[in-house]
Amino acid sequence: MKTLFNEPLKNSRFKFLRGILLCAVLFCITSERLVAVEPIPDKLVVLTFDDSVKSHYTVVRPLLMEHGFGATFYITEGFDFTENKKSYLTWEEIAQLHKDGFEIGNHTRDHMGCTKENLEKIEDQVEAINARCAEYGIPKPTTFGYPGNAFDEGALPILAKAGFQFARRGGSPEYSYSKDRGKGFAYEPGNDHPLLVPSAGDARPDWTLDDFKRAVHQAKEGNIAILQFHGVPDIEHPWVHTSVERFEEFMQYLKENEYTVIAMRDLAKYVDPAEQKPDDIWTVISKRKAKLAEEKSAADE
Ligand SMILES: [Zn+2]
Repeated sequence: MKTLFNEPLKNSRFKFLRGILLCAVLFCITSERLVAVEPIPDKLVVLTFDDSVKSHYTVVRPLLMEHGFGATFYITEGFDFTENKKSYLTWEEIAQLHKDGFEIGNHTRDHMGCTKENLEKIEDQVEAINARCAEYGIPKPTTFGYPGNAFDEGALPILAKAGFQFARRGGSPEYSYSKDRGKGFAYEPGNDHPLLVPSAGDARPDWTLDDFKRAVHQAKEGNIAILQFHGVPDIEHPWVHTSVERFEEFMQYLKENEYTVIAMRDLAKYVDPAEQKPDDIWTVISKRKAKLAEEKSAADE
């Protein structure tokens, strides 16, 4: 019996099979290109807005649309979201933010801190927001914002199982939440765990353009600056309020200086969360803390 290989080249069956093989090779090359991540440019910034504040719709939305900026809104039904529709978004407004192209992220139903004692409740808390999203035609969130910026290491496998690719924390534990006025480090892909992405800045009421610049100027050499905002203005959470005037100034700075402004989910374009993660989540955090302690002791001398 003749095999495929001792048939003459001109045999049309061989040519057909050779064509199929060539197509398969080309398909593999192309699909590999599709999943490969892009190099991280300098001046890459992620904008995030927490706590479902009404001004996200009335003030932030039109300004971001005018500038063509991406952003993530971390939605919770906590605080008095249900009763107080003067201060908090409606689900119709949240659905509109999605339709406008912004990302709707998960911030738990009750704004529940992901502390050790709350670990068992995370799944239900996350599911409640996912169910609301489904109800309003919003895709299942792929990123998470830790409420109150609190986290326990045990939350990571739970968030991974729930299908999150990235989760954003605050500037702590490297910086103090209360004493350091919202300072933080930029995200270092590979060194920071994708489910513990730090905020380079967490805007506070007394922030000036210099505080904002300190955060965004870290977006270089492969690092990405994640910014955390609350309401603009924020009547219900005055400790994280940003004035309209200041916010306009910050956004203008990003525009004039040609920053690339994206949502958290868009990190997947530049970072492969399955590949780029450390063996130990504490290594980079300890390193930064040691560096800060060194700088402090040098300044005290
Ligand atoms: Zn929050």
